[in-house]
Amino acid sequence: MSTQDRGAGAPVIGVSADIETGMTVAQVLHQAPFELLDNRLLVAHALRMSRSQLITQADHPLDTDEAQRVAASFARRRAGEPVAYILGSREFYGLSLLVTPAVLIPRADTELLVDLALDRAAPGALVADLGTGSGAIAVALARTRCDLRVTATDVSAQALDVARQNAALHRVQPTFLEGDWFAPLQDRRFDLIVSNPPYIVAGDAHLAQGDLPFEPLDALTDHADGLAALRILTAGAGRHLRPQGWLLMEHGYDQAAAVRALLQSAGFTTVQSWTDLAGIERVSGGQYMTPA
Ligand code: GLN
Repeated sequence: MSTQDRGAGAPVIGVSADIETGMTVAQVLHQAPFELLDNRLLVAHALRMSRSQLITQADHPLDTDEAQRVAASFARRRAGEPVAYILGSREFYGLSLLVTPAVLIPRADTELLVDLALDRAAPGALVADLGTGSGAIAVALARTRCDLRVTATDVSAQALDVARQNAALHRVQPTFLEGDWFAPLQDRRFDLIVSNPPYIVAGDAHLAQGDLPFEPLDALTDHADGLAALRILTAGAGRHLRPQGWLLMEHGYDQAAAVRALLQSAGFTTVQSWTDLAGIERVSGGQYMTPA
């Protein structure tokens, strides 16, 4: 297609070889080189349209600004940047959450942890989410169950800032505390402690693949054997759980047996693991019995 075909006043822009002023939304989507859902998300975001407007406005011709915005987001994606960071948001538990490179991108697998926590939380339960990151778990819990009293901690002030924005966006008010794992909880006790800690083994090949190189490394790996944070959580939870309170932790695909062993040796009962959508044991947990 040349400039002439589209008539006067429609200059070809230089930002990208394939996205040009005057192309229609349908043509842009047809040219978009990424996965189908990613193409739609990127184009809708760049054009400030909803995904249904992409269909109802399929014949809309892009002006120069729009073409430049689409080309710019395609260029970022081509350079490997995660779609969630380009959009600045990701859907989790039916909620649109803000995400920045200061936080791990919420994963669908982690919705299992939310479901398990909701199943175990009695009315008015005190719940702690340790290493909350974007606040995904804490906000999903508080939003689904307004009776829960949710506390969320993170060692990263930047992450807490994102989590606070997500709480405000969804009109929930967890208590946010800055600090390492249990440190900011002082002597508080909870009915339920949940966490999606960093659990990838240092040097694991996955850290160099897909979205992961763009995510905060400290949210992904313990820089050790992958169990360091899970050990801290199991060892410390007893001092912060009420009798029969639950500890539920997400972990790696091959860590379930090791995490169950940690829970058992720390005095937890009804220790078990649950599988994610892919059938992989993804969350393990148990109930803390106060020693007689
Ligand atoms: N599940 C994530 C991944 O494998 C890791 C998240 C985490 O370390 N908590 O990409």
